[in-house]
Amino acid sequence: MAFKTDIQIAREAKKKPIQEIGAKLGISSDDLLPYGHDKAKVSQSFINSVQDREDGKLILVTAINPTPAGEGKTTTTVGLGDGLNRIGKNAVVCIREASLGPNFGMKGGAAGGGYSQIVPMEEMNLHFTGDFHAITSAHNLLSAMIDNHIYWGNELDIDTRRVVWRRALDMNDRALRQITASLGGVSNGFPREAGFDITVASEVMAILCLAKDLDDLQERLGQMIVAYRRDRTPVFCRDIKADGAMTVLLKDAMQPNIVQTLENNPAFVHGGPFANIAHGCNSVIATTTALKLADYVVTEAGFGADLGAEKFLNIKCRKAGIAPSAVVLVATVRAMKMNGGVAKADLGREDVAAVNSGCANLGRHIENLKSFGVPVVVAINHFVTDTDAEVQAVKDYVATQGSEAVLSRHWELGSEGSADLATKVVDIIEKGEANFAPIYPDEMSLSDKINTIATKIYRADAAVMDNKILKQLADWEEQGYGNLPVCMAKTQYSFTTDPEMRGAPTGFTIPVREVRLSAGAGFVVAICGEIMTMPGLPRVPSAENIRLNADGDVEGLF
Ligand code: ADP
Ligand code: MG
Repeated sequence: MAFKTDIQIAREAKKKPIQEIGAKLGISSDDLLPYGHDKAKVSQSFINSVQDREDGKLILVTAINPTPAGEGKTTTTVGLGDGLNRIGKNAVVCIREASLGPNFGMKGGAAGGGYSQIVPMEEMNLHFTGDFHAITSAHNLLSAMIDNHIYWGNELDIDTRRVVWRRALDMNDRALRQITASLGGVSNGFPREAGFDITVASEVMAILCLAKDLDDLQERLGQMIVAYRRDRTPVFCRDIKADGAMTVLLKDAMQPNIVQTLENNPAFVHGGPFANIAHGCNSVIATTTALKLADYVVTEAGFGADLGAEKFLNIKCRKAGIAPSAVVLVATVRAMKMNGGVAKADLGREDVAAVNSGCANLGRHIENLKSFGVPVVVAINHFVTDTDAEVQAVKDYVATQGSEAVLSRHWELGSEGSADLATKVVDIIEKGEANFAPIYPDEMSLSDKINTIATKIYRADAAVMDNKILKQLADWEEQGYGNLPVCMAKTQYSFTTDPEMRGAPTGFTIPVREVRLSAGAGFVVAICGEIMTMPGLPRVPSAENIRLNADGDVEGLF
C-alpha cells in the first residue's frame, strides 16, 4: 500500500478561515491579527484580558532517546490534540516554529506528519509569520551596534578579543562559523574574529520564548552579556543601549501565532529555541495563553526526555510557574529496536528480542519522569511495519514499570487513531495524581545542579568538571547568578555523552567541557560533548529537490 507524503496530505486539507479557528477559543476577529487567510497572531491586549481565568490542564509530550529519524513527538502532539477534541474535550496544541536551516538540509518538517499535521505546513516550515526574521534582525542589530561602539572610540572599553556576542542567520552555513570581520581598511573598523550561529541558537530566541511580556523581554535583552573588558568585567546589552530598539523589532514576533490542524482544531505555533544550548520548547506566552483558553493544552519538548522534558520541567515550568498534569512518553517499536542494538538498515525485520532489550531505555525515562511527580502514559506511535508481537512486547514491559502503554495510530488515521490515547490521558488527569516539582531547588549550587541532572536523570556516576569550570561557576554565583537553572547541552541519542551508547547504560561519567552564561535567558549552559551552534548542510541537501511546480505549489518539502 502506498502512502501519501506529508505535503500531499497537507495540500488536501480543508482549511477553515483563521477567524473560525480563533472563535473556537473565544478569540474575536478584532483580537486576531491575520497573516493571510489561515494564520494569525493573537493580540497582546486580548492576552492581557484573559489573565484572570483559570488554567486548563497541561500535557507534555516527550520521547525516549530517538533514532536519527525523529520518533514522532510532534506528530503525536498534534494527534493527541485532535484525539482530545474528538472525544469532546476543548483542547489546543502548542508547538515550535520551524528553522529554515534543517528544512533545506535533512528532510524532516516541524508540522507533524501523516494525518496529524498542522497547516499551512509549507508556510509553517518556511517564512511563516516572520518571527525568525525578526529575531535574526534584532540579534544582528546588537552585533552591528557593538562593532559600531568600538569603531566610534570604544567608550565602554570592550576588549575586542572578548566580544562574545556573535551574528545570526537562519541557515545551515558552516562557512560562517568562524570569520574575520572589519577587514578592508580604517573606515571598516578594527579587524577581529567573529562568527555566526543559526537563529534558533540565539539567546534572543531563548528570551522571546521565556519572557512573560514585552517589559520582561526588554529587561532580559538588556541583561545579556555581549563582551568582557580586559579586567574580565562583563559588558551588557543595556550598556550598548540596544535593548529598546531590539524590543521594537520583536514586538510583533512576541505575539503567539495561531493556525489549525488538519482536523480544524486550533494550534499555537510560536518560538523555536535550540534544544541543546537552549531549552527547546515553544514560547511561554503561547503556552500560558493556551492554558487560559482551553481545558487541555498539549505541548512538546525537543529531543528525548533526558534532555527535552528535563529542561521543560526544570527550566520552563519553573520560570513560567506552570505544571503538567500528565506526561505522554512517545515510544516507537523502531526506536526500541535501535536502542536494543539493531542497525538502521535492519529495522524492517520483526525482532521481539531487540524490542525487549531496548525497553530498558523506555523504563529509565518512565522512572525519571515520575521523579518529577507527574503521571506517565506511554504512547506507542504506530508505524505500519510494526508487528503485533513487537507492540505487545512494549505494552507488557510498560505494565511491569507501573505505567500503561497505548497504541496510537494518528499518523495513519488522524484522531480516529488517537482517541484511545486521548481517553487514557484524560482518565489519568482526572485521577489528579500529579504533584509536580523540579528535581533541584533554586538555591542549590550550580555545580550540584549539574551533578543532580547527571546522576539522577542520566544515571552517571558523576559529572566531571575541572577546576577552571568550577571556578567559573563559583564566580557566577558570586556575581548573583547562582539561583539560575542549568541547561544541559548533550547528545540526544544517549543518556551518556556518546551517541552510540544506546539503551540504559551505567558506569559512565558526564564530562563538562565548557560552561556558558545566558544571563538574559536566565540559565547556565553546561556543554558536554561537541555542540554545533551553526550546523552545516549534508552532502546532498534537501534544497536540491525543493521547487515550485507548474501550479505554483511547493514540491519536495517533505
Ligand atoms: P519529532 O517531533 O519527534 O522530531 P516528528 O513528529 O516531526 O518527530 O516526525 C518525524 C518524521 O517521522 C515526520 O516526517 C513524520 O511524518 C514521520 N512519522 C511520524 N510518525 C510516523 C508514523 N507513525 N509512521 C510513519 N512516519 C511517521
Ligand atoms: Mg518535533
